[in-house]
Amino acid sequence: MANYRGMWEQLGMDLESHDQLCAVLPTAFGDVYLSQENRPEAMSFWDMVVADIHGIRPAELIEEQKKGRKVFGTFCVYVPDEVVIAADGIVTGLCGGSQFWVPGGEQVLPKSTCPLIKASVGARLGRTCPFFRIADMYVGETTCDGKKKAWEILGKDVPMYIMDMPQMKREKDIEKWYEEIKDFAGVVEKFTGNAITPEKLKEAIHIVNEKRRALARVYEARKADCIPISGKDALLMMQIAFFDDPVRCTQMADKLADELEQRVKDGVSVFPEGTKRILVTGTPMAIPNWKLHHIIETSGAAVVCEETCTGTRYFENYVDEAGQTLDEQYRAIAERYMGINCACFTPNTGRVDDILRLAKEYHVDGVIDVNLKFCCLYDTEGYTVEKALKDAGIPVLGIETDYTDADAEQLRTRIEAFVEMLG
Ligand code: SF4
Ligand code: SF4
Repeated sequence: MANYRGMWEQLGMDLESHDQLCAVLPTAFGDVYLSQENRPEAMSFWDMVVADIHGIRPAELIEEQKKGRKVFGTFCVYVPDEVVIAADGIVTGLCGGSQFWVPGGEQVLPKSTCPLIKASVGARLGRTCPFFRIADMYVGETTCDGKKKAWEILGKDVPMYIMDMPQMKREKDIEKWYEEIKDFAGVVEKFTGNAITPEKLKEAIHIVNEKRRALARVYEARKADCIPISGKDALLMMQIAFFDDPVRCTQMADKLADELEQRVKDGVSVFPEGTKRILVTGTPMAIPNWKLHHIIETSGAAVVCEETCTGTRYFENYVDEAGQTLDEQYRAIAERYMGINCACFTPNTGRVDDILRLAKEYHVDGVIDVNLKFCCLYDTEGYTVEKALKDAGIPVLGIETDYTDADAEQLRTRIEAFVEMLG
């Protein structure tokens, strides 16, 4: 492993605290990931990335910055990567998925804020995440209340741009979102010093569509009766997709998909025949939040699909590539992104339709509806989601959790009982 201490020092990181974080991650990864058997060989790429998660990609980003490129840190799947890429910018995800950062976030936020927001703020304020140090601009959005207020704290000493999200999906809301995307493009152009042309935007749309297509191929393989990859491994691929270069992400996901398709042909499964198939739906799982998947997959079941922002919401639906003018392209982008069904919208019946469709497509035996503690949106929507599943005769278990291990045994007991109940 290369030595990145000099780089972290230059980034102004708190090296002492960061050492503590680095000390726990390999054990956690080893316990959760390396203990699995018969993993696809292609996963070695993601294992390598995780082993140096604060080294390899940050060093690449810094090299690109030296060439004059700007890095945009984002927190939500509604922020259109295409616009940034078209201006030769780079996008990196910034959502925090570790309990390590939560106490830092609680110093400035109410405890009753969701762990994802607390961890993100804690990672910034504690100076223990290189991605937060590297990003030249943060891009927030007005999705949930917790995030809206967190931007005011996060944006104190770094340029912060906030996209105003509609709360509904009527024609006039989509029009508003199109205007918002155009405004964002203007900001990105100014910040990078690069004009967005129809040619560049066309190429960027294609790059991101290709990435979606490759991720979708991996998911497609998970529909097979024999399960060629664990839910944990698929989740890891998705989590890193938020940080990686999009072209490399596509290549790696395609390579993994090739292997999975071959496994399906050969009848190679990572779980014994008859293992119960679970769809996980709910709040996103930012890296290194592997808690729920690990509990499910060590309780006799397999996760075969995630209807989350670190799952199907990230890659389903493509931007129409036919647009020739910027105006047509921005409209196509607005329409694709308004097809994402997050609980911050009302009504959000599209999400229930998605869950019922995915349950069928992935032949699931049951659904686990997960809510990050203090996420009022997904918690409230859980009522509608769980009722729709029950009405459709699909067993569902609703759970609420955070990033700590305090409830792990209790969750395990409930999940084991649920899996047993599936027969
Ligand atoms: S859950 Fe909603 S707010 Fe959070 S990342 Fe997904 S789309 Fe954005
Ligand atoms: S999980 Fe819920 S509360 Fe947390 S950032 Fe996402 S939408 Fe907001």
